[in-house]
Amino acid sequence: MINLYTGIAPARDLLLTHRLCEKLNGKSFLHINSTREGGGVSEILQRMIPLLKGLGIDARWEVITGDRKFFDITKKIHNGLQGNPEDITEDMWKYHYEINVANAKRLDFNADAVLIHDPQPAPLVEFRKNGIWMWRCHIDVSNPTPGIWDGIKKYVKNYDNSVFSVAKFSRTLPIDEVFIPPSIDPLSEKNRELTEHEIQDVMNGFSIPVDKPIILQVSRFDRFKDPVGVITAYRMVKKYSDCRLILAGSPATDDPEGELVLNEVKEAAGNDPDIHILLLPVFSDKKINALQRAATVVLQKSLKEGFGLTVSEAMWKEKPVIGGAVGGIPLQIVNGVTGFLVYSIDGAAFRIRQFLNNPDMAVRMGQKAKEYVKNNFLITRQIRDYLAVWYAMENRGKGVIEL
Ligand code: UDP
Repeated sequence: MINLYTGIAPARDLLLTHRLCEKLNGKSFLHINSTREGGGVSEILQRMIPLLKGLGIDARWEVITGDRKFFDITKKIHNGLQGNPEDITEDMWKYHYEINVANAKRLDFNADAVLIHDPQPAPLVEFRKNGIWMWRCHIDVSNPTPGIWDGIKKYVKNYDNSVFSVAKFSRTLPIDEVFIPPSIDPLSEKNRELTEHEIQDVMNGFSIPVDKPIILQVSRFDRFKDPVGVITAYRMVKKYSDCRLILAGSPATDDPEGELVLNEVKEAAGNDPDIHILLLPVFSDKKINALQRAATVVLQKSLKEGFGLTVSEAMWKEKPVIGGAVGGIPLQIVNGVTGFLVYSIDGAAFRIRQFLNNPDMAVRMGQKAKEYVKNNFLITRQIRDYLAVWYAMENRGKGVIEL
């Protein structure tokens, strides 16, 4: 199955992955997170588990279960770890632990390597058996609300090591820390090649003519994604160059402000027929793919961001991307080379105009953008990294690890 990536992903990643799998052949690798669908973690696991199996690794994916109360608590912990002021009471921490105890009784932890994703199932480490236990943190915990990190750290320190997406999202720990950025799958429905006909079909479905340049932002209607700022930037550009703006996304279901933000966006758009606000259902991968491919310029003008995978998704499609210089976006956009980083609405408008006025530059940057994603942000690289960390942990203490 991984051979499907030959010619798409870098040969060195595939080669190294095969070598690692010869060493780890038949060993078991258990992933545990808190949801089977929805969100980037489950999206990548859905693709990664079959690939690992195809490589001869006995990969397994388990999901912890809990009630509404548990997920309300873990949402608060999640927000608190990312700096929102939250109050997690002793009772809440106790409940978080108890639900993990119940899951530990149900789940089979027998594996050579166990990767626990995010804070929800972090306490499972208390019930570890054999194998190497690693904690994978997908969120930015560099600036948490005081006290909340301590509630998680007491579990994290009992793992063999920790994995963060980027160094700046991490915190000092008494265990090893490694950095593995997230990735996109070039063969998934969201990123696979589409024919012109498929793209046109989707645009027709939305009744959006492709008669003028399209500026696109795909993101949840969340203030941190600055959709109103995007509209203001578009208006500044529109004075000089005719274009359309598409804002595509679903209201953030776990965010009570989602509806409010959507109304603000609609109000800011007024009755401009060239602004298209698309409310997408949760699984709209092919539609997102087509929109990204139909776009002339892609924006991700976030004010606060996790890794911001929409950036790599658009870059993979050879689009010139303009991103806010926050979170993981500067890791994906090399400013002036694979796209532009901006710090303001004025800056975004300026860069959009630059792309619209210099189509050749947009094409060149788009090509470099794809190359950059190919080398750094494909699923094959992430699989390689996970296997390498596991293999290195198995050989801990050896001066030289042979492969
Ligand atoms: N996405 C989606 N539907 C939407 C908006 C976004 O499927 O309405 C996808 C988008 O293509 C990307 C992911 O959700 O794969 C968003 O990830 P990102 O890291 O950019 O931002 P987050 O939403 O996690 O803050």
